[in-house]
Amino acid sequence: MRKLIAANWKENPGNERGALKLFREVARAKRGNADVVICPPFIYLEEVASEFRKMNAAAKKHFAIGAQDVFWEEKGAFTSEVGPKMLRSLGARYVIVGHSERRKYLGETDAMINKKIKLALRDKLNVILCVGEPLAVRKRGIVAAERFVKDQLKKDLAGATGKIIVAYEPIWAIGTGKNDSPEEAAHMAAFIKKTLMAHNPTLSPRILYGGSVNSKNIRNYVQYKDIDGALVGGASLKAGEFKKLISQI
Ligand code: PEP
Repeated sequence: MRKLIAANWKENPGNERGALKLFREVARAKRGNADVVICPPFIYLEEVASEFRKMNAAAKKHFAIGAQDVFWEEKGAFTSEVGPKMLRSLGARYVIVGHSERRKYLGETDAMINKKIKLALRDKLNVILCVGEPLAVRKRGIVAAERFVKDQLKKDLAGATGKIIVAYEPIWAIGTGKNDSPEEAAHMAAFIKKTLMAHNPTLSPRILYGGSVNSKNIRNYVQYKDIDGALVGGASLKAGEFKKLISQI
């Protein structure tokens, strides 16, 4: 099974020129056994997608564009929001939903995330749902982390049908350099798969690990069969580092 590596550029780079430069360099990476998805900020999506469209079929293979968020309505009086059909019309095939930074800074709730997921799946986007526990919960042990994540999954995926990708991202590991141990990440990935399959087998989940993944530690994660890839933040912003990371798959 091929592994999936999704790049979350967050609010980077600082201008369109930088975004195109980064995209062009990353697009040249040898993808080996990895499917690679680049998720730029909305503002660069059109330029990046147009650059993607210019690539030949061989260069586009195992490569795709995604967004970092989506709204739960197709269109209407929802200032600044972007619906799934709009994303698809630009050529985006993936979307990240429920990232912990959106939950924390934008007050995104499980109920909002659930609505986003249902519409995005209906409109045939590949959804990457982010879940993961805060440090205070993990300090109580892995069973407490399982309980926290199970509750998120239950609420975020209520009534959702279709294939889903879940990024297990312990909040304390994101952007901190304190990555989760590969063994515990693999344990959580297996737990998420088991939970979702018991709840709704149509979700046929693939599980990514996210949290301070880089070219030096990626192999430690993807060696586990239950870890189907990684969601990568910081390390996806340096073309050389990201290319090296992909080459390890
Ligand atoms: C993320 O933003 O989803 C992430 C995992 O970031 P980082 O790789 O920088 O920890």
